[in-house]
Amino acid sequence: MKLLFSVFLASCSLATAAWHAGVAKADITPTESVPLAGYGGKTRMSQRVEHPIWLKALALKDDVGAVSVLVTADLVGLSDKMIAVIAKNAAEKHGVARERLILNASHNHSCPVTEDVLWLYYEFTPEEAAAKDRYTRMVYAKYDEVIGAAIAALKPAELSFEQGLAGVAVNRRRSRGPESRALGGQVDQDVPVIAVKSGNGLQAVVFGYSCHTTALGGLSINGDYAGFAQLELEKSIPGCTALFVQNCGGDANPLPRIRGRDAEATQLAGMYGHILAEAVRQVVAAPMKPLSGPLKVAMDETELTLQPGLPLEELKQRVPNLTGMPKREFEHFIRQYEMLGSPPDRVKYPVQVWSFGSELTFIALTGETVVDYSLKFKAAHGWNTTWVCGYNNDLLSYVPSLRVLKEGGYEGVSGMYEYGHRAPYTEDVEERITAKVEELVKATAK
Ligand SMILES: [Zn+2]
Repeated sequence: MKLLFSVFLASCSLATAAWHAGVAKADITPTESVPLAGYGGKTRMSQRVEHPIWLKALALKDDVGAVSVLVTADLVGLSDKMIAVIAKNAAEKHGVARERLILNASHNHSCPVTEDVLWLYYEFTPEEAAAKDRYTRMVYAKYDEVIGAAIAALKPAELSFEQGLAGVAVNRRRSRGPESRALGGQVDQDVPVIAVKSGNGLQAVVFGYSCHTTALGGLSINGDYAGFAQLELEKSIPGCTALFVQNCGGDANPLPRIRGRDAEATQLAGMYGHILAEAVRQVVAAPMKPLSGPLKVAMDETELTLQPGLPLEELKQRVPNLTGMPKREFEHFIRQYEMLGSPPDRVKYPVQVWSFGSELTFIALTGETVVDYSLKFKAAHGWNTTWVCGYNNDLLSYVPSLRVLKEGGYEGVSGMYEYGHRAPYTEDVEERITAKVEELVKATAK
């Protein structure tokens, strides 16, 4: 009898693994005028700060696992170069294995440019480039700081998960006039939420949404609608840190949008933030599913192949007639012909899966993933037990589904050059990503 009892206790403690969670935030608001990120064209130098922007980290440890860290950022994205530096520091200084580190960016278009992210967009004066470099150095130091602080803050906690809803996102293809409406208008308006409780209160809420953070495009530093949502949640839930995860918002915009009238646009972004914050508040006020763990993680890369690019002769012929970003793009491809023989025909595509037992599968994809990926993996693995986010790792490019690729247009076809890729992906893009996701979901399943 005694033996049976202790076996029962052991299996019980495994099934309800006691979590430790640690949360930290680091202010990454620039202290000088810096070039703003996200939109091509004329360089926009920041003129004021609407509200601070942040890096935020959630460190998690279950009874049986090592420490895993999710870092969210009010940044437009990260580059391969940035990921390498941040991940190396996380491993060497804080012992975080690469597969246990998820680096998500909100895709904020009202933040400074960092390092080489979207480098073909910009043409900086030496002074502007120096300001960008000073800011980048600060951001690296803050990543290091916030990861270390979250781990140092680990303490017993309870995790739970549920989804809310917010109707802010509109498919970009529907928003571009009557002729585009024939293309359909899928969106994912779920607001997945992980609540972290310790002691009597909420220590953190991690929430996501699939929509470009492009309500604003002026000259102020802010976190766009996601920044307003985080701000409001932190004000209305004392002691709680709110972390925003950009999901699969590659082909979604917040609508309506106002251009050229900054005060009104800011008000609108605040309203979208309020809607999202209210969705999160409703989720955490209602019963949520406890996450029992243990946390199983997996990370691997697949390759996405590119269609043939323009021949060298054609690039050389056309470049004298170009200016601005198109000229920089073509010159980049010419350099690749000269240095590498031809522009690369493939890119690497990292995929991460964190499985919180049977209650939540967290699928982290790379780049500007379109909504089809979120809907597809939720349909396959459970609408209420699956969270799919893009905008992790390298910002890379838009990541179209086969549908979006075949439709053509900006996301996945005409938008490829500006990321430095020679041509659109081949038609197996969705198949390759799906195969890797399924492999990792299987590997992390109980
Ligand atoms: Zn984008």
